[in-house]
Amino acid sequence: MKNSIRTFITAAAVSGLVFMTGCKEEEMNKESSKTDYMVLVNKQSKLPEDWEDRIELVDVYTGLDETYQVEKKAAEAYQKLRAALAEDHIIIELDSTYRTVEKQQEIWDEFMEEYGEEYTKKYVAVPGTSEHHTGLAIDVKLVKDGVIIDDNDDMTTEKELFDRIHARLAEFGFILRYPVGKEAITGYGSEVWHFRYVDDPKIAKEIMDQGLTLEEYLQKNS
Ligand SMILES: [Zn+2]
Repeated sequence: MKNSIRTFITAAAVSGLVFMTGCKEEEMNKESSKTDYMVLVNKQSKLPEDWEDRIELVDVYTGLDETYQVEKKAAEAYQKLRAALAEDHIIIELDSTYRTVEKQQEIWDEFMEEYGEEYTKKYVAVPGTSEHHTGLAIDVKLVKDGVIIDDNDDMTTEKELFDRIHARLAEFGFILRYPVGKEAITGYGSEVWHFRYVDDPKIAKEIMDQGLTLEEYLQKNS
C-alpha cells in the first residue's frame, strides 16, 4: 500500500491535482469470500436476490473530492489500477459505481426524458438488470490536462488513451465489459469507460487477450 500511496502523490504532483483516496477502515472487516466475482448480470440474467447480503461495499474517495461505493476487493484493485495509470500520466476518476435499483430507475427516467426511448434502451439497463447493482462495475471519466472528460461521446473519441487504459485492466482483475462489436452478445453498445472486476487476473487476461465478453467466457467454461 505504501508504494501505491507514493505513486498517488507523485501522480498528483505531476498532474497538478491534489487528491486523497482510501477506504473506511471500519468497513474493511467483513469477509468478502462469499462474493461471486464471476456473477453474470445482464438483460437476461438478473442480480441474485440475496446479492446485497453477500457483498461488502467500501467508500472510495476520488481526486475530485467525490465519494463512490465499490465492492471491497474491486475498490482495492481500482486504486492500484488508477495508480499504475497515473505513473503513465493517465488520470482516471470514478464516475459511476454501485447503484441501487431505485437509483437505476432515476437514471432510466432521466435518460427517457432527455434522449428518448431508443437511446435509453441502448445504453441504460432496466432497473434490476444493471451490472452496477453488483458493486463490481465501475464507470470512469478522464482528467486530461486538468479538464474532466465525462461525456460518453467525448470519451469514445479518446480512443488512443482508452486503448492504453484497457491494456492495463487485466493485471488488476478488470475487464472491458462492453467491447466494440459485441452488442448482440452483451446487449449494449461499446462503452470504453465501463470496467468490470472479475477478481482473478488470469481470467481477466484470458478474456481481454481473446477479446471475449463475460458471457462468452462463462459459456466456454461452463
Ligand atoms: Zn457502467
